[in-house]
This record gives sequence, C-alpha cells and structure tokens, in this order.
Amino acid sequence: MALFYECTSITVGNRQRASFWHSPWFGGRKPKDIAPSIFAISKHKNDTIHGALDLNKWIANINTNSGLTIQHILEYYELWVGLREVFLDDGVDDEIVWKLSPSGEYTASSAYKAQLDDSTASKMKSAVWNNWAPPKHKFFAWLIIQDRVWTADRLQRRGWPNCGLCQLCKRDPETAAHIIFRCRYTVRIWTEIKTWMGLTGVHITDWSSFNSVNDWWHHMVGVNGNVRKGLASLVMLVSWEIWNEWNARVFRMVSAMPNVITSRIKAEVRLWGLAGAKRLSCLMP
Ligand SMILES: [Zn+2]
Repeated sequence: MALFYECTSITVGNRQRASFWHSPWFGGRKPKDIAPSIFAISKHKNDTIHGALDLNKWIANINTNSGLTIQHILEYYELWVGLREVFLDDGVDDEIVWKLSPSGEYTASSAYKAQLDDSTASKMKSAVWNNWAPPKHKFFAWLIIQDRVWTADRLQRRGWPNCGLCQLCKRDPETAAHIIFRCRYTVRIWTEIKTWMGLTGVHITDWSSFNSVNDWWHHMVGVNGNVRKGLASLVMLVSWEIWNEWNARVFRMVSAMPNVITSRIKAEVRLWGLAGAKRLSCLMP
C-alpha cells in the first residue's frame, strides 16, 4: 500500500474512492501522517473521504475515552486549516493517476522498476539513517532535508501567522536553507566548529551556491573517506542545536549567542563520542 500511495497522485472529486486517512490527497500528504495521534484514536480508520469529511461526524468517530492531549489539538488544527483549502466536486469521480507511466495508467513493469530503484531512499540512508545519532536528531534531519519544518516561508504559504524574518539574525527572510547553512548566526557557529575540528575540507564560503537544505546536506556528507560518517553525525548535531536555539527564541523568548551554542555542540560531541559515535570522536581535536 505504501508503494501504491507513493506512486499515485490523487485528486479528490466526489470522494467515494479515496481513503480519508491513507490516501495522500491532502496537499500530497496522508492525513494519518499529518495527524498520527488522532489517527491512533480514530474508530473508523478505513473510511473514504466521503464518510469522513463531515467534521461533526468525524469528531464522533474519535475515541476520546483515552483523553485528548495538546498534540491532538495541534494536529486537529492543522487538519482543519488544510481542509478549508480542499475543494470538492460531486460531479466527478476521485481521480487516481499512476505517476510512473506517461499515460497515468498502471503498468506492472513500472511498478517493478520502482521497487528496485531505491536511489532516493539510499541517499537518505547514507546521509541520515546509517550514521550515528540519537533517533530524534535523525528524525529532525529527515524532516528538514525535505523542507518540512515550520519556518516562516512555510507558515506563509499556509497563511499562518509568522514574522517573516529569521529568528536567529532578525535580518533575512526565514527559510529552512537560511537557518541551516546561510544565516550569519549559523555561519559563525560552523566557522568556529570548523576551526576547532580542523575541517579543512569544509568550505563555508561556497555554501551560498546551494539552493536547498537537501543539496547542502548531501554535499556536506558526500565526501569520501573515513571522515564521511563523522561529518554526517556532526551535521545532524549542529543542525539540531541550531534548530533548538530557533525554538527557544520562538517559544520560550530566550536567546543565546553563537559561542554558547558552540560550547554546547562541543560538549555534545564529547558525549556522543562516549556514547558510541566513534567516527565523530575521530574528528575531535
Ligand atoms: Zn538568519
């Protein structure tokens, strides 16, 4: 089923065929990925959109005995906002198009090829999954490489409140790419880490040529040799600490200077080394 949804695009019409939770009809995403906590307590997991779009009926389908948390409310809000952007047409059937063939019709050969061709998945494996880092760092890396964290540009696209400017420098428009490798705040941190570790192969002045976190990240971890896996861990660690600082500013109204974050990163590098990140501790002075 995962392959099916990965390889099809769904346009909702009269919502008789598409599954509310499992189809990626919601701006290309599956509601169960957007609202996993609500999906977990939903009583009708296999409803079509037709059966589930009526909001009152939908709420009645949730098992609230186990109690609702703030996470449920946040997820519900995201679904609610998204639903307002979905336009339904009773006159046409839901359209399910097979993305892997030019005609949009399913062919066995294209499905077979897709199952063997995992180049995208393996790229994420070498950049993220197969390297040493705690799971939350890996998950964050996976999200931000796909530009799926709530920076101002993304909030703006949804029409959600945002201040537009980067929370770290308060000067440039905020995007994931800006926060992770372009912001002067971030660059100061990386410059110090580069000097500390003697990372002569990292050329910070070249970073402005990268257009996305994805490009930059794969460039950073794309080097050969024995530093590759250490660098992959380091990129996850530094990016995570920068993202933490962003969160502290947005949600707790506290901010720290780059040198504070740098000290924190150095301490974390030592701890990760002790916890088993051998390739990372090889980079340590
Ligand atoms: Zn900035």
